[in-house]
Amino acid sequence: LFGYVGIEAVLDQMKIKTMKTGFEFNIMVVGQSGLGKSTMVNTLFKSKVSRKSSQPGQEERIPKTVQLQSITHGKVTTTGLCPTSPWDKQGTGLGACSCVHSLKTSPTPGALLFPNVSSPLTHLCPTVIEEKGVKMKLTVTDTPGFGDQINNENCWDPIIKYINEQYERYLREEILITRKRKIPDTRVHGCVYFVPPTGHWLRPLDLEFMRRLSRIVNVVPVIAKADTLTLEERAEFKQRIQEDLKTHTISVYPQEDFDQDPEDRALNDRIREKIPFAVVGADQEHQVNGKRVLGRKTKWGIIEVENPAHCEFPLLRDLLIRSHLQDLKDITHNVHYESYRVRRLNESNR
Ligand code: GDP
Ligand code: MG
Repeated sequence: LFGYVGIEAVLDQMKIKTMKTGFEFNIMVVGQSGLGKSTMVNTLFKSKVSRKSSQPGQEERIPKTVQLQSITHGKVTTTGLCPTSPWDKQGTGLGACSCVHSLKTSPTPGALLFPNVSSPLTHLCPTVIEEKGVKMKLTVTDTPGFGDQINNENCWDPIIKYINEQYERYLREEILITRKRKIPDTRVHGCVYFVPPTGHWLRPLDLEFMRRLSRIVNVVPVIAKADTLTLEERAEFKQRIQEDLKTHTISVYPQEDFDQDPEDRALNDRIREKIPFAVVGADQEHQVNGKRVLGRKTKWGIIEVENPAHCEFPLLRDLLIRSHLQDLKDITHNVHYESYRVRRLNESNR
């Protein structure tokens, strides 16, 4: 009946649509203070996220560094989006905004957990990254000092609350009679959890956190500051963490249950073998063989964070920003948000 139909043209249409509207991608970093979260955020922005496939010469144009500032100087907004962000003003702006906002998430029992800061969560203004005409609005939420207290009971509450608030916000927009053509998406698509590089086992706090969070968000665990471990120690620690997660039936991203087909499974199996990635962060560039590289300078040499022989930061970056970006968004929408939606609508029907 049909010869060549040409439905592949839909790909171009989808592409044009995405180019026009852009898309949002939201990441959160969580872990105890001192594990290198803020550094990792900078590493992500300074690394070649958006440089790789662009023309040589244009390279340095895009990733304006997002500098973390003391959040006490940040303006407080209730929307979580920067009022001065070029994106929000014209809908198309390009550029990085460097302010950090503390979010009013609650008036707040959570704040007690973080006595040194005014609010439990800082929110980096979205950075717009443009590549070949496609715009991505990348937002990173930093969570200072999770689990720093002597009594860490319920220390995950502000984080869970924040994640649920973003689902709630989306739901409210979705159920409006006249809803927006494109609902602003502040939902957390990936939550990077920093495991301290002890080389032992996961601590009860790590397990408890990941257990709770993996039910509502895509959790991507990483071994923080992996340069403090030898290669053997990294491998052993990784193995133990994988066993721990299995024993406690904690399903981190990419979850086996959500593999779409055998091909997907094979790809994800290879990733699951490597999780948690042993990462190193750096926000300084150094000269190595005439090239500038992001790295940590030590007495013994430079640890290049973007060199796969030195650490697994490149794997983390590629998973988040390249290979699995759409999948993280899909699972967030189809699984995590969906279960929130069902739960909420059931509640209100009672
Ligand atoms: P945060 O409290 O989790 O945000 O941690 P920071 O990013 O502020 O880092 C705390 C300290 O650890 C700083 O002195 C960083 O330079 C250092 N640091 C960050 N990442 C790494 C890493 O991968 N390896 C090592 N050895 N130190 C790191
Ligand atoms: Mg920090």
